[in-house]
Amino acid sequence: QTTTKGKPKWLRVKLPTGEKYRNLRKLVDKYDLHTICTSGSCPNMGECWGEGTATFMILGNVCTRSCGFCGVKTGRPEDVAWDEPEKVARSIKIMGIKHAVLTSVDRDDLKDMGSIIWAETVQAVRRMNPETTLETLIPDFQGVKRNIDRIIEVSPEVVSHNMETVRRLTREVRIQAKYDRSLGVLEYLKQQGIRRTKSGIMLGLGEKEDEVIHTLKDLRSVDVDVVTIGQYLQPSKQHLPVKQFITPDQFKKYETIGKELGFRHVESSALVRSSYKAQKHIN
Ligand code: SF4
Ligand code: SF4
Repeated sequence: QTTTKGKPKWLRVKLPTGEKYRNLRKLVDKYDLHTICTSGSCPNMGECWGEGTATFMILGNVCTRSCGFCGVKTGRPEDVAWDEPEKVARSIKIMGIKHAVLTSVDRDDLKDMGSIIWAETVQAVRRMNPETTLETLIPDFQGVKRNIDRIIEVSPEVVSHNMETVRRLTREVRIQAKYDRSLGVLEYLKQQGIRRTKSGIMLGLGEKEDEVIHTLKDLRSVDVDVVTIGQYLQPSKQHLPVKQFITPDQFKKYETIGKELGFRHVESSALVRSSYKAQKHIN
């Protein structure tokens, strides 16, 4: 758990409020539903849940990778739960979610890297919630097209894959990933007809302004439609330190630059997380 000590005032989190939020919270507790929003204590819960958006993590909660910024446990994951797609679909129904974001840990231990459960989850959600729109925030599947194709075949409204940081810091920030491989995944999605592609980066890890701009240009060069830019916060002392708190003005500047570069949507401010305001990114 991070503390607010030493954090600039624009990062102090307001407690979520609102009737919709309170009702959802009750359902989540009653049925023991798992959302990223609650497990990561996301600051945007009031806003997102109020709009009927929530994020669900599939394929367990242990990741085969060990990115330096990420609070998810690393190790040997549990066996695949084949009833997970139905469970997620049911949670979305109980919560009355209008726009669901699905994401997963990386499963480099599995031959299909989890892509079969991914596709089945999208299908189960569609079956049980025909009105709900979907964003899939996918891993890189090590760039294996056969796996990425399984996502493309079930055609979520938005497909996202996060770069997380600039080229120079990629090794340090997400050791098992590659900058160009991630760009390649985004390029492939678009080439195969995914209408809305999306990516996200975190700031405050030591990147420089021109490196951020370069990353934005790289994303546009493969036709990415939406970018999210937020402040990195250290999940625990074992994780990468925060090198810098980016000011609201600097976030604004990136937003302007992003819009000039031609992104359809740019979400850029300290508390932005990859699924923040996700619903509007369909359009
Ligand atoms: Fe949930 Fe994402 Fe919204 Fe946070 S930003 S509340 S994780 S949907
Ligand atoms: Fe976290 Fe994803 Fe990295 Fe796994 S691959 S450690 S879930 S950011």
